[in-house]
Amino acid sequence: MSTSLVILREQAGHETGSHPENSRRFPGVLNRLGEDSQRHGLPILESREATVEDLLRAHTESHVENVRVAAENGPTWLDGDTVASPLSYEVARRSAGAALVAVDAVNGKAAEGTATTSSFAIIRPPGHHATADRAMGFCLFSNAAIAARYAREALGIGRVAVLDWDVHHGNGTQDILYDDPGVLFISFHQWPLYPGSGWLDETGVGAGRGFTVNLPMPPGCGDREHIEGFQAIAGPILDQFDPGLLIVSAGQDGHVADQLASQNLTAAGYHALASASADFASRKGIGLVALHEGGYNPNTLPLLDHAVYAGLGGFTPDLTGDTPAPELEETGWPERLAQIRRAQSVFWAV
Ligand SMILES: [Zn+2]
Repeated sequence: MSTSLVILREQAGHETGSHPENSRRFPGVLNRLGEDSQRHGLPILESREATVEDLLRAHTESHVENVRVAAENGPTWLDGDTVASPLSYEVARRSAGAALVAVDAVNGKAAEGTATTSSFAIIRPPGHHATADRAMGFCLFSNAAIAARYAREALGIGRVAVLDWDVHHGNGTQDILYDDPGVLFISFHQWPLYPGSGWLDETGVGAGRGFTVNLPMPPGCGDREHIEGFQAIAGPILDQFDPGLLIVSAGQDGHVADQLASQNLTAAGYHALASASADFASRKGIGLVALHEGGYNPNTLPLLDHAVYAGLGGFTPDLTGDTPAPELEETGWPERLAQIRRAQSVFWAV
């Protein structure tokens, strides 16, 4: 297994002030991951700008134009949670473009010496709440949906899976791909929590019925419950769908010390999820692209992203300094898992 990083040098141009999604999230992350890449001889790639055509694979023309004009006249609010400043349109295009660089890198389209089996794009603004026609929840464009459509339409990859382990439901990715049987969308998220969607009966529509898989997890769930959800539901469904590319929406905001939610994941849990994803991709002989989503505690995020990077690259992480998490017995997870299994057994052998 080999992995690369895609970095976005312009990220600070997307200015959000004292908002939790701000440019202070990543300097510590890039220091830590930079050391890892040097130690293990792993390539670092530069983002590129996604073209308008790339954005339109997932978004309406009016949405792309709204973001461009709002940013130009910014700073302004695109919704109650989402800021655009004058450079936000360019940075958001580069954030989506970094996802495309990662897709290329794991599909034999990388520059000489930089081909890897997986790639981790450290990008902001994040993407998974942006729907086809609106910005929301700190997200301007859906990086994961744009990457999935690019893989299918530009690279001819027939089936793409998106696995979203951010603590919030990936409503935007789901919205864009809801009727698309070519992209399997699986989301782990705390429920109830922002944005309120993602109950287990949301399974797709029309030809896309059965290709959306939601795991709404009760508050208080930690490493054990997430790994169990992967082994019982996500893993078997991924296996049966048999994708040609796996995209992970990697938000580490379910960590016990993250203030935006109340899950109890630790760095070891994120390492386990990343390792399980990388093992799956390796077994299938397909590329894996991880796109950064949430994660809002700048003190813990370097460790969590290091854990994910190690899982992707197959090197041993150093998880010293992680916050200990309680293992709760009364979360209601076993009953919820049984409900999820019943909902999914209509479509898949789980
Ligand atoms: Zn999140």
